[in-house]
Amino acid sequence: MNYITTRGGKDCVSAAGAIKQGLASDGGLFMPETIPTLDTKAISKLCTMSYPERAAYILSLFLTDYTYDELLADCEKAYSTDRFVGGAAPIHKLNDDTFVLELWHGPTSAFKDMALQIMPKLLSSALKKTGEERTAFILVATSGDTGKAALEGYRDVDGVKIMVFYPVDGVSRVQKLQMATQLGENVSVCAIEGNFDDAQTGVKKIFSDSDMAALLNDNGVFLSSANSINWGRLAPQIVYYVSAYCDLIESGEIISGEKIDVTVPTGNFGNIFAAYIAKMMELPINRLVCASNKNNILTDFLQTGTYDRNRSFYTTMSPSMDILISSNLERLLYVLSGAENTAELMKKLNTEGCYTVDAALKAKLDEHFTGLFCDEDGTAAEIKRTFEEDKYLIDTHTAVGLNCAKQYMAKYRDGLKMVVASTASPYKFASDVYTAVAGKAPTDELSALDELSALTGTEIPYPLKDIDKREVRFKTVINKEAMPDEVKKNLGIK
Ligand SMILES: *Cc1c(COP(=O)(O)O)cnc(C)c1O
Repeated sequence: MNYITTRGGKDCVSAAGAIKQGLASDGGLFMPETIPTLDTKAISKLCTMSYPERAAYILSLFLTDYTYDELLADCEKAYSTDRFVGGAAPIHKLNDDTFVLELWHGPTSAFKDMALQIMPKLLSSALKKTGEERTAFILVATSGDTGKAALEGYRDVDGVKIMVFYPVDGVSRVQKLQMATQLGENVSVCAIEGNFDDAQTGVKKIFSDSDMAALLNDNGVFLSSANSINWGRLAPQIVYYVSAYCDLIESGEIISGEKIDVTVPTGNFGNIFAAYIAKMMELPINRLVCASNKNNILTDFLQTGTYDRNRSFYTTMSPSMDILISSNLERLLYVLSGAENTAELMKKLNTEGCYTVDAALKAKLDEHFTGLFCDEDGTAAEIKRTFEEDKYLIDTHTAVGLNCAKQYMAKYRDGLKMVVASTASPYKFASDVYTAVAGKAPTDELSALDELSALTGTEIPYPLKDIDKREVRFKTVINKEAMPDEVKKNLGIK
């Protein structure tokens, strides 16, 4: 299977090539030329498999230059029960209609682990498959969760170095500590003054700087991305939607072929786009609810057809969704309207910060997606209500998702089962979760973990226990203009 770009450029590469390169050379994103499908026979076969087997099966349909056995070996390591305590993607039944897909049992307590535990292994194989001798330098912009998950995934992987930039005031204290205390010989972490979009724009600039590429090449280094624009991030995310569908069949909640709805708390549009690919593969998904927080640019886009980034940016209690440019939306535009139109819209976004899709594309969006949002008060109220009424503790991002799912169900009453993606452990955002449940702030952000555990009788997950007792290794804060210099410094290049 070949991978081509969303903007119509000449790049045409294998899966290994797409994973190694990250971004296409015309600035577009890689997409498989065709989407494989899953018939009911394939789904019943998947039902009998373990999560690693399901992952290897789905991945093998897309990564045709990797063997099934190779993928299975990697998936068994990536999704082992000592890394994913409590299972890779278990479902919690909230009530007869609503099911929470818990994606945060991995080593950093957020859903990014689902992709970032396997992706470094895919890259490592990709380097071998393509005869690469240079070091891959992974450059990441993060609003918190990606950074830590990438650091943990790439830590001490051969032939790879990783550097993470995060907005100094745009992540929680726990997220900051998780990154600043990261272990590994090949990792580094740097804060920048600015917000997540500043960090992402800075990273994108470095990626598109040909002088920088030449300089790095002279020093035996090339850049690669771990952000959700990389196909190696997206493909593993398709798996858990298929897996959830199988689990619902296995537990007798649905019968094979029955349609379900899916709600995804959305930021960069990677997770929900993976769900859309599952739908394209003919997994019986009826509607995809795109849930946003107060930064509701996607809600406006899906409701009106106009994407307008000329608006205020808010820092919310669900920071991983605080975003004005959702990079993976480009893939959806491409699938629904082709490369030429996508290139044009992306050019407009770049120059005017705004674009409007035509009626045909708007109609196609409406066929699959509903955009809804939930503000800060709604988020806090959802956490409290879910804990008190359903005896289930959720984080701030999941609360946005659940709130939007309920809005959708109240309005459309389609009678289908709803699966809500739960993207982080409540302990990752303990302070806001505690405040929502207790009605008062915790003593401080760190003691919030213990206080939340005492208040709710739930356990702190292993990756977050004693986080404040670990050694802080990374303290640098820089201006966003200094990002290229920081990269050179890190690689020892003058
Ligand atoms: C990254 C993240 C999201 C947003 O996912 P996208 O794929 O960027 O849309 C939502 N919740 C949490 C906790 C995250 O870490």
